Amino acid sequence: MKLSIGAEALFTGALGPQPPWVVADVKLDVPAKRIDFEVSCSGTLLSCPACGAASQPVHDRLRRSWRHLDFFQFEAWLHADVPRVACSGCGKTTQLGVPWARPGSGFTAAFEALALALCRELPVRQAAALLRCSDKQLWRRIEFYVEQARTLERCEGVQIVGIDETSLRRGQHYITVVHDLEAKRLLFATEGRDHQTVLDFAADLKAHGGDPAEVRHICMDMSAAYAKGAAQALPAAAISYDRFHVIAMAIQAMDDVRREEMRGEPEKVDAALFGADPRTRRNLLWGMRKNPSGWTLAQTQAMHWLQRSTLKSARAWRLRMALREVYARARQHNSAEHAAGDLTAWMSWARRCRLKPFKKLATTIKERFDAVVRGMLDHRSNAFVESMNGQLQQAKRAARGYRTAKNFIAIAYLRLSRLKNLPDHPFSAAAVVG
Ligand SMILES: [Zn+2]
Repeated sequence: MKLSIGAEALFTGALGPQPPWVVADVKLDVPAKRIDFEVSCSGTLLSCPACGAASQPVHDRLRRSWRHLDFFQFEAWLHADVPRVACSGCGKTTQLGVPWARPGSGFTAAFEALALALCRELPVRQAAALLRCSDKQLWRRIEFYVEQARTLERCEGVQIVGIDETSLRRGQHYITVVHDLEAKRLLFATEGRDHQTVLDFAADLKAHGGDPAEVRHICMDMSAAYAKGAAQALPAAAISYDRFHVIAMAIQAMDDVRREEMRGEPEKVDAALFGADPRTRRNLLWGMRKNPSGWTLAQTQAMHWLQRSTLKSARAWRLRMALREVYARARQHNSAEHAAGDLTAWMSWARRCRLKPFKKLATTIKERFDAVVRGMLDHRSNAFVESMNGQLQQAKRAARGYRTAKNFIAIAYLRLSRLKNLPDHPFSAAAVVG
């Protein structure tokens, strides 16, 4: 279908190419829901794109196409014969750049900007389906723009960081992430969880204008590798162990006690749960890992059986809940002295409880006592670490289509780094007017 005369001029204005580029032809294919724009370069003498020499002859023209933002419900494409300039100045033959796309891309810049905006909110596969392109095409662009934006990123004045590990799949393929806990953004992500990851973070911080010697506080888990890396690369930083990791260790200790007792002393467990529902063991497994507010009815009943028993699992449950209470009180009084007192009392109970995993946990906490107490009081960091973890989980779900560390890291940067130098959303201007 041919459009009326004057339409080309209208579309030249709407698409925005500058001279020497004009829209020469527009074809609307209604059944195919497609609109094709032929854009042409009117000049025969052009400046050399390599050296800038004026009035150089066009050597030849190469046919190229770009996918553009949909035009109403029509899939829009730009096509052009792009001139190559044979330059008498530098002697090179160079293809002219086009103002609507970066070199080598088959998408216009506006289309890429929309794609990127969608990938900040949606799983990449879903964004690809909406845009009717492949997720591979989107991943390539995410990596390109994220790397470009990260190069320009500045990290001056970073003082409080959180270092954490996350895994691409459960229990394997670890990624270390470093957050700025004041600016609330992801600073750095890399594969692995050894001490080198912290050294790499310090180098990256330096490369972006930050100073590792200015980092005065690190919130992290009790991994020896991170402690070693921090001692080498972030010498001025006081360490605090965030409450999620400490509570997670208590839950692990409790799980170990329960598992060993259920397997190792089945007669004792049978006797203790005599008359209970046969599914009680299974309800205990999940009930013990949750807080009482999250129990189902069956779990509540199972937990009542447990608490009336003299099982080791019941003791382990009480220890875990007591530690949680110690943290909750610290949040209220916010006093290092009180927190240290409460924690010492808990440790002394844990050491005397005749449950090996809790004795071990008490020793671990004792060795890092000051840093654990600092973590009890550092609520803002704790809360932020938690929210970042939630967002990372989301990013992980979004990366599921690809499952490579590289893609996961790119998505994490895209969503959590507040990168300033990403392309603007192509509809943002319209949104402001509206
Ligand atoms: Zn030249």
